[in-house]
Order: sequence, then C-alpha cells, then structure tokens
Amino acid sequence: MTSATTLPAFKRILLKLSGEVLMGNQSYGIDTDFVASLAAEVKAAKDTGLELCLVIGGGNIFRGMAGAAKGMDRAQADYMGMLATIMNALAMQSALEKLGVDTRVQSAIQMDAVCEPVIRRRAERHLQKGRVVIFAAGVGAPYFTTDSGAALRAAEMRCDALFKGTSVDGVYNADPKKDPAARRYDTIDYDTVLAANLQVMDASAVALCRDNAIPIVVFSIREQGNLAQVLAGRGTQTIVKKEC
Ligand code: UDP
Repeated sequence: MTSATTLPAFKRILLKLSGEVLMGNQSYGIDTDFVASLAAEVKAAKDTGLELCLVIGGGNIFRGMAGAAKGMDRAQADYMGMLATIMNALAMQSALEKLGVDTRVQSAIQMDAVCEPVIRRRAERHLQKGRVVIFAAGVGAPYFTTDSGAALRAAEMRCDALFKGTSVDGVYNADPKKDPAARRYDTIDYDTVLAANLQVMDASAVALCRDNAIPIVVFSIREQGNLAQVLAGRGTQTIVKKEC
C-alpha cells in the first residue's frame, strides 16, 4: 500500500479541479483570491513546459443531484450544473490571463458569445501554441459529471495523465476525516478502485481512464505549491494505474 512511486515525465496533462476548491474558505461560490492562487499554480506547471488542459467542476455553485433531491427535474438540474462549470471556467480564464497565460475556454454546451465550442483539432492547435485549454460543461449531457468530462477530454486530447486536484491528498482505504486509522495508497489499480467503490472519481470516469491507459493522479490542491511538488515527483499523491 505504501511503496514509493515516482511519476514519469509528462508532456501533456489534464488537470481536473473540483468546483469546491474554487470556494477557498467560503461555503459557496467563487473566492477570487483563491482562484488567483490556483491560477499561479497552473502557470507554474505550464512554465515547466507542460501542455495543459483544464476541467473545472461546478459543485461550488450547483450540483444536479442536489436540485433533483429538492424536487427539480434531474436533467434540468444537471444543465444548471453544467452552466455552473462554465462560470468557473470563465473565472479561471480571467485569473490565468491576469498572469499573462494565454487561455481558451471550450464548452460542450455552445455559448458563442463567451467561449468556443469544443473542437478537438482547434484545442490541439491551442495547446501547440502554448495556450491552456479549459474544457467546460463536462461531456455536455445530463446524468454525467465533470469527472467523466475530464476523462473524456484526457482521452481525446491524448493526455499522458489525468491529475485530480481535490481537498484530500490521495485515495484512502477509509474516510480519513472519520477514521484516524485510514491509510493512503501510493498506487492502486483501476479495477480495485472500481470493485471497492473507492471514491476517486465516478465509475464511468475511472473505466474510461482504465480503457485508455490514462493514469489518474489524485492529490491535494489545497496546499500551495503542491501541484508543482507532485509534478516534480516530490509530492504526496495516489496514482491509479494498471498494475501496481
Ligand atoms: N454535469 C452534467 N454533465 C456533465 C458534467 C456536469 O450534468 O457532463 C452537471 C451535474 O449536475 C453536476 C454539475 O454539473 O453535479 C457540476 O459538476 P460536478 O458535480 O462534476 O462538479 P464538481 O463535483 O467537480 O465540483
């Protein structure tokens, strides 16, 4: 469970940030100061020469399941969730561009006045030109999540790995917030994650990564500088991959 693991050198990665991390210490919405610090981390990662795709969730604003639990039509609520991810993408674009990082937002729900539609070949060109591409609105369909959106874009953009930045520093065998004896895995394989129903990403996202041999690196984005540490092989993380 705890053998040390080093990450290979990556050329292109997809970074998935859950919407919650954009809240900073707030209980809802977007903390612009915190988004600015996240943008600085993204810039530092990009400055190492990486090609970077970003996917940001929407849970800090609206989740379809929460709307459905209160009696809304699930698909309608999910569309609202997808719109929330576009707002987050625009907030991140603004923060990145303040730091001089060229950025394009591509949304799976067309919104011509504010961003581009998802066009893989165009996204490819943006990456080649050194731009960060933020993919918004998940897969563009209800009953999915931005984890699935992240896995899908990582596969179609042929990313070397999917980095999932959350508030926990990896995958545990029990909830570390509730169980002090919970242990973090250094590496774990996709099938164990699926069979044990470990809360890494939703099952469709894990399966898509497994089928396309895309390693998932789960790490905490809450501590400043951690993305760079993880990328440099000095961080704390769990790598989900084929054989461990
Ligand atoms: N969503 C969706 N289809 C997608 C991506 C997102 O319907 O392809 C909706 C869904 O309602 C979800 C919400 O958008 O709850 C916000 O995304 P998510 O929950 O993945 O955000 P995160 O938990 O990463 O902040």
